[in-house]
Amino acid sequence: LNKIDELQEVLIAGSFERPTSTDCMDIVSPVDGKLIGTIPICASATVEHAAESAQEAQEEWRLTHYTERYELLQKAADLIEANKETFAKELTWEQGKPLGDSLIELEGCIGYFRGAAEDIKRLETGFLPIFDPKKRVITVRDPIGVIGVITPWNFPWDIPCFNIASILASGNSVILKPAEQTPLSGLRLIQCLQKAGFPKGTVSLVQGVGEVTGEAISSSNLIDGISFTGSTETGRAIARAGSSNLKRLCLELGGNGPMIILDDADLDIAVADVALSCFWNSGQVCNAGERILVQEKIHKEFLEKVLLEAKNHKLGNPFDEGVTMGPMNNEEVALKTDRHIENAKEKGAKILLGGKRASGFPTNLYFPPTVIDGVTTEMLLNKEETFGPVCPTITFEDMDDALRITESSKYGLQASVYTRSIKKAFYMAERIRTGTITVNEANNFWEGRLPWGGVRASGMGRVGGRYALEQYTEIKTIIFDLSKS
Ligand code: NAP
Repeated sequence: LNKIDELQEVLIAGSFERPTSTDCMDIVSPVDGKLIGTIPICASATVEHAAESAQEAQEEWRLTHYTERYELLQKAADLIEANKETFAKELTWEQGKPLGDSLIELEGCIGYFRGAAEDIKRLETGFLPIFDPKKRVITVRDPIGVIGVITPWNFPWDIPCFNIASILASGNSVILKPAEQTPLSGLRLIQCLQKAGFPKGTVSLVQGVGEVTGEAISSSNLIDGISFTGSTETGRAIARAGSSNLKRLCLELGGNGPMIILDDADLDIAVADVALSCFWNSGQVCNAGERILVQEKIHKEFLEKVLLEAKNHKLGNPFDEGVTMGPMNNEEVALKTDRHIENAKEKGAKILLGGKRASGFPTNLYFPPTVIDGVTTEMLLNKEETFGPVCPTITFEDMDDALRITESSKYGLQASVYTRSIKKAFYMAERIRTGTITVNEANNFWEGRLPWGGVRASGMGRVGGRYALEQYTEIKTIIFDLSKS
């Protein structure tokens, strides 16, 4: 792949342009260390310009008939579909995931646009009872207005599409700021939306770094809501900045998913799911298996099996056939993984597999599957989100002990429980405080039409299918007095 000159462009008021007098930054591929392109770091003036045009667009766009939005969303899906192979290659180049996984990510995005187009046709409104017999009441759902979408680098196509499809379907305007590490996927998506014919100003793209461009979005008084996916720390900064004009916030934040394996579980199923949840996308997944809680009686057998399973995961060039793990995306996330492993070693945990970066690759970001035993609640691997290809094993005595360990982390995104007993499954599922729990299914199980979101440090708000339409709209109550007209 060659350097992409268009990365310097942003979309504002319906035209692609190159902002002048802004700082710039080079974007380098984690796969081969080569330059992908240079992005502008858009400052407040550029963001405000985008926000003004998005507000202007709102006047008409929010009132368009849903059939018009349906057509545009379907056209966007067609354009993504027509170019999915090229987009998948670019995604792998800038993010580092295996090419097959990139293609699956693109397929999902086509589904989000088609799904949102269908959902908006079926969005129900209400006809409410009221005490006064002379009155009638209906409720409708109004768009929030202009929504800033700030996204991370781990799913650079999926996360923007997952949110933007529903945001546009429900009549909002959108300003996207992709992660600085993966600006190309964001650019390609916005080019598709522009080509599909969304009216001027309904869709904008700005590029840059979080502290400048992201901060300008969260603090702009012309922006009505934020759809943020990223770390808990950034989520807090956005909530503070967004309070200036009481923005409607949807915060999809970090996780520290416990996978709890009770001693009556089908161990082969559990082990395969653990390896998938810990190593897929090199563990850079919000609902990855971050902590593997294993009941004492099956601990030894679990370790033997998980080591065999981990060895089936192949690290290598993500463009090569058979490779299941490419490089990690960036030095910062790899350093965090190094730090968490070092902390566990210092506190007495044992590295059974991997544990440090692999040599002999074009960049220093290739990290092998890592299995660690003897992890305790004091270790960073248990308390914080690691976001690397690590399977840290913690043993527990009984279900209440497993619940105590689960609660020793502040996050509440997704958890999983493995057992053959429906009674035990319910005991755990009713007590664990997370947005989602899977029973005998991988922690990183994902279905884009189900309600998605976290509790506690994992965020607020629910997206996914019709839940996203509710998230990105507000109920308006209309009262008719039949006696006065
Ligand atoms: P991040 O550092 O929080 O960055 C996410 C986005 O926020 C990026 O676009 C970033 O910009 C921007 N940003 C950074 N500082 C900002 C600020 N002060 N104001 C406004 N925007 C700012 O997260 P990440 O490292 O990219 O992504 C990994 C995290 O995302 C993990 O914690 C993961 O669990 C979470 N995640 C959650 C979900 C979910 O659905 N719950 C899904 C995927 C990922 P720059 O990158 O350009 O600096």
